[in-house]
Amino acid sequence: MKHAALSARMGGLRSSAIRDLLTLTARPDVISLAGGLPDPNFIPRERISRAAADALGDASSVQYGETSGLRHLREVIAARESVKIGRTLESSDVVVTHGSQQGLSLLAQVLLDAGDTVVVEDPAYTGALQVFRTAQATLAAVPVDADGMDTEVLEAKLAGGLRPKVVHTVSNFHNPRGSVLSLERRAHLAKLADTYGFWILEDDPYGELYFDGPPPLPVAALSDRVIRLSSASKVLAPALRVGWLHGDRRVCEAVELIKQGADLCGSSLTQQIAADLFSDTAWFDAHLDKLRASYGNRAKALVSALEAGFGDSARFSPVRGGMFCWMESLEPVDTAAVLDVAVEHGVAFVPGAAFGVDADLSLAARLCFATYPETVLEDAARKLCDAFRDASAQ
Ligand code: PMP
Repeated sequence: MKHAALSARMGGLRSSAIRDLLTLTARPDVISLAGGLPDPNFIPRERISRAAADALGDASSVQYGETSGLRHLREVIAARESVKIGRTLESSDVVVTHGSQQGLSLLAQVLLDAGDTVVVEDPAYTGALQVFRTAQATLAAVPVDADGMDTEVLEAKLAGGLRPKVVHTVSNFHNPRGSVLSLERRAHLAKLADTYGFWILEDDPYGELYFDGPPPLPVAALSDRVIRLSSASKVLAPALRVGWLHGDRRVCEAVELIKQGADLCGSSLTQQIAADLFSDTAWFDAHLDKLRASYGNRAKALVSALEAGFGDSARFSPVRGGMFCWMESLEPVDTAAVLDVAVEHGVAFVPGAAFGVDADLSLAARLCFATYPETVLEDAARKLCDAFRDASAQ
């Protein structure tokens, strides 16, 4: 008997190039700058283990919980986010999600009908593209440069009649571009949202990982039309699958309603662990300081080694935080073709084309500097340089 067909929305979907690449580069002999993986040695397993043991002392940690999330965790997140946006949030303003990825996915269900227009950044966070494609949205791309999304281009498109329902932006230490949306552009974007009535999804999992000083005010501080998402993945552990969002009350209530059908509730156990670690402020502040200093040193080491090796043949964007360095080859060499050669040399990265919507990013690459110590990154830079030299010679 013939199987019933898949839904129409599956037609336009393909597997994320990055998730596929992660399988390819999981080889132990390859230094992978491809995944956005925190250094496993910086994931505080002992502290997590203690928090887990404490949590397991109470039966609530292994029970179903509230759909919107553990109240204590929402209180801690509301307090931290209030400081960032300069406005007091209550625990009832926060919805805890299964990573911020689930937040994006639930928001798409709440806000989008098939055919609605979503403005995405170009290059884009590929996880967001997957969500919006699943929602059968029409994507409109706005370029990202060293100061984040080019809001002048967005304004020109709006003036030309584009009417997005949603604009997605990674405001801090962009994935993959590494850039920070400037304060001027934040204000401009907020004003455009108020004028044209679209929602901004401010997707900010990297904002705490600054090297020199905190990033500018969140866009959520500048407009009521912002739903702000963040996550414990990059500062504690991806495996906790703890993310959160806050913003317009009606939108958050709708997210909670959709989440009831998606998973009933998040994990009580990992939410208790996250609440314990976030509320141990002396420990958490010291932990963040260590991540900022270590990732900052790694970014510097990788970029210096790459600049020394590549000379005038490539440009590397200055890195102010987060986990990614963006490379642009100044020679006509397709980075997707270099990848195969690079893997043979024992190093991997993500070719820029994986993040492109309309833009031709075939000369670009995303390099993650967070996973390995400086000496390994310097070795990776040498291998990368050799791979580009070999590929150019071919
Ligand atoms: N947004 C961005 C920009 C990301 O880079 C990621 C993870 N790579 C996420 C959201 C999702 O992260 P998580 O679900 O682990 O919170």
